[in-house]
Amino acid sequence: MRFRLGLIWLLSMLPAVAAGKGVQDPVQAYLDRYTAQYQELYYTASKTEWASNTHIVEGDSTNARATKVAKEALARFTGSTENIDTSRRYLAQKKSLKPLQVLQLESILYLAGDNPQTVAELVQQRIAAETEQTEKLYGYEFRIGDKAVTPNDLDEILRTSKSLDERLAAWQASKEVGKGLKTGLVRLRDLRNRTVQALGYSDYFAYQVSEYGMTVPEMMALVDQLNRELRPLYRELHTYARYELAKQYGVPVPKLLPAHWLPNRWGQDWSSMVTVKGFDLEGALKAKTPEWCVQQAERFYVSLGFPSLPATFWERSSLYPVPEGAGYKKNTHASAWHLDFDHDVRSLMSVENNPEWYETTHHELGHIYYYLSYTNPQVPVLLRHGANRAYHEAVGSMMGLASMQKPFLDGVGLVTAQEQPDATQMLLKEALNYVVFIPWSTGTMSRFEQELYGKNLAPGELNRRWWELVARYQGIEPPAARGEEYCDAATKTHINDDAAQYYDYALSSAILFQLHDHIATAILHQDPHATNYYGQKPVGDFLRSILTPGASADWRKMLRDKTGSDLSAAAMVRYFEPLMAYLKTVNAGREATLSEL
Ligand SMILES: [Zn+2]
Repeated sequence: MRFRLGLIWLLSMLPAVAAGKGVQDPVQAYLDRYTAQYQELYYTASKTEWASNTHIVEGDSTNARATKVAKEALARFTGSTENIDTSRRYLAQKKSLKPLQVLQLESILYLAGDNPQTVAELVQQRIAAETEQTEKLYGYEFRIGDKAVTPNDLDEILRTSKSLDERLAAWQASKEVGKGLKTGLVRLRDLRNRTVQALGYSDYFAYQVSEYGMTVPEMMALVDQLNRELRPLYRELHTYARYELAKQYGVPVPKLLPAHWLPNRWGQDWSSMVTVKGFDLEGALKAKTPEWCVQQAERFYVSLGFPSLPATFWERSSLYPVPEGAGYKKNTHASAWHLDFDHDVRSLMSVENNPEWYETTHHELGHIYYYLSYTNPQVPVLLRHGANRAYHEAVGSMMGLASMQKPFLDGVGLVTAQEQPDATQMLLKEALNYVVFIPWSTGTMSRFEQELYGKNLAPGELNRRWWELVARYQGIEPPAARGEEYCDAATKTHINDDAAQYYDYALSSAILFQLHDHIATAILHQDPHATNYYGQKPVGDFLRSILTPGASADWRKMLRDKTGSDLSAAAMVRYFEPLMAYLKTVNAGREATLSEL
């Protein structure tokens, strides 16, 4: 467990270490053997998965089959009884081992937890149930009346329509998919719990949390803390949205926000309520090319003292939309890949020269430079990960955020000094994204999944509990009563196929603002709302000191050492202070109805 590193160091100073020398050598030999085989199997699986994502030919299942075979081989190895027994046996003598050896053995056990061959039958059932569930979810045809619509169509209506009837129809249509997913979710909950219980975890939620070196009560206390810190600001945003939307729709102001009023199916992001005027990034980017956007992102990292990207990145990545008539499709969701835990790094994007993709290129290259930074001889392959699961996303998002600030855009010639975006509206738009996300991620999602797995919520109470949490944390209510024939939680992808990890996103938002605040105030001596990281070598040095150790460092100690404080939302609260003042003025005389936590 990572946070115990300090303690392990102390123990290893004791005379017992001399006795331990005898076990360190065989452990190292085992780790070397494991690593070589793991790296090879993982690389094969990644390459097939890359092909499955970048070259999709309708009716041709060659790639999908190859991916399945490679992933099964990897699962058989990581979950093998031999690896479970060996790592457990050595961990029983952890006081005699080097700290890095302990971390690697723990990582081996964690990898085994997902598919222990000691319960091979259960693992097979779980994988089959997961495949079935995602096929139902992604293969579902949404309908409004008798008209088939895509999820994008539904989102577009919720973002733009001013008609409450049309919004209601779109919102209701978006929730129909949950009905058919309920049985599968309950079955998956049972299979996921039983699989990890075979390795001694109390439930699947506890298993996922363990990767942070934390217990469930510790994790819940941490996410509750973030939620409490941001509650006063969220209350103002909640009041603002109730009054502004009621005005827009021409109806009385409700106590709780009706779910179909909001520009997002789950009420997790309200940022499209605001359009920022005053500068034209869209126009400036029209004069560039998609290639320019990616190269510009690389130039930015190089300006911070990072190396150029490896030639293979450019040769192997899939960066632009598939040309018309190419005869294949690709996954259009942006991602960054570390295929071999070495220098084969690639990005999958569909870059166009617009503001969203411009920001995304800076975000994805953040992941790529994280991979390249911890790929060094000091970091064993098994620890080539972010300091914890939230750090990776925090770094990518922070670089995306930095690339969108006015002085940065000014410096790279994408806006002119004369253009002045409305700073308050810009901050409001950011808050409607980052702050609104917190009660949803820390409250609704994390609480629901913790209770689903840890308290075995009964099938007959899933929807009731879901909406209780939505009301309490987000201050949102359904347009009409939702019975247990619905399963509104299961309409969210992550509940089905990325289970029990959603707090990652909340923690990464907090870390993002904490790191950004430090860079702005302590390194650049600039206003955190108007920074320019470009060309600043000290910013690069600071980042590299965080990225280079990967998961071989203790993530809590690192945050404390680098920023001077523990993980908290304090920096995020500070960032939005000017907005808080503005909202208090706008909301003067309005009734706040959001409950206390
Ligand atoms: Zn990312």
